[in-house]
Amino acid sequence: SVTVVGSLNEDVLVAVERLPGRGETVVGRDAALAPGGKGANQAAAAGRLSGTGVAMVGRVGEDPAGGRQVAALREAGVDTAGVLATPGTPTGSATIPVEDGSGENLIVVVPGANAALAPADVDVPAVRGADVVLLQLEVPLEAVRAAADAASGTVVLTPAPPRPLPEELLRRVDVLVPNEHELVQLAGAGPAGRTPAELAELARGLGVAATVVTLGARGALVVPAGGPALLQAPPPVRAVDTTGAGDCFTGALGAALARGDDLPGAVREAVAAAALSTTGPGARGGLPDAAAVRALLSR
Ligand code: ADP
Repeated sequence: SVTVVGSLNEDVLVAVERLPGRGETVVGRDAALAPGGKGANQAAAAGRLSGTGVAMVGRVGEDPAGGRQVAALREAGVDTAGVLATPGTPTGSATIPVEDGSGENLIVVVPGANAALAPADVDVPAVRGADVVLLQLEVPLEAVRAAADAASGTVVLTPAPPRPLPEELLRRVDVLVPNEHELVQLAGAGPAGRTPAELAELARGLGVAATVVTLGARGALVVPAGGPALLQAPPPVRAVDTTGAGDCFTGALGAALARGDDLPGAVREAVAAAALSTTGPGARGGLPDAAAVRALLSR
């Protein structure tokens, strides 16, 4: 089984002709609501792929937005018993103007109920007994640490949004899944745009058991602490929207590890699943099921 501990957000996507500058007002054409939050996106991806055995632990407000986030996860096959309602606090939100044509965006996140996730909320059987626990950093660090401590299975951490991490947490992490930018931030190194060999070197310096660096259209780099790094390229797809590709990647990685795949095998599946997710709109459009991933991998 897979348990995700993390954020649930309502994304408010606003189409604009041009992104506003500082002090400027622009009029959006339309606003669309979409389920989001790194944690919930990972859970939805794992749920869609596994069909069963995926649970979400987090917090929403006692508001319609919270109800929509829970309903969207259930529709993806996720057990939401661990999603707690938080009186007097709104469900987290992300307001995202998206520019016509370029597709460039700005993001303003209001954590809301996510900021209320407490260590006691995550020290629960769904976390303690899961084969794989997926963590990110859109909830308080104390809750992330408590979940890592409570877990008996494989702990996978997405260090996003990036922030300095205590060594005790990194020592408990079995697989760290940064993108290139997050890895460079964590390692305290210069700008991104490095070769796979240089990225592997940076990853090894973190002292984590294994790191998987996601590299966008180039795929993902598997870096075991003591062994050669391996670059897994994606199968060819026609990407239309890469929003949430990283979350799909990690959800798929968790699902494959829970099924008993080794790390390189799980990364191969995750790269295929994430590639498919880029062929649909938004963070949750295009999330594949297991049959779609199998079909792509056997082509
Ligand atoms: P994030 O979305 O967190 O910035 P990446 O951009 O590295 O992370 O994307 C995560 C994963 O999604 C990549 O490792 C890759 O497997 C897949 N992916 C992203 N963009 C593409 C693309 N254009 N074509 C195929 N796969 C992609």
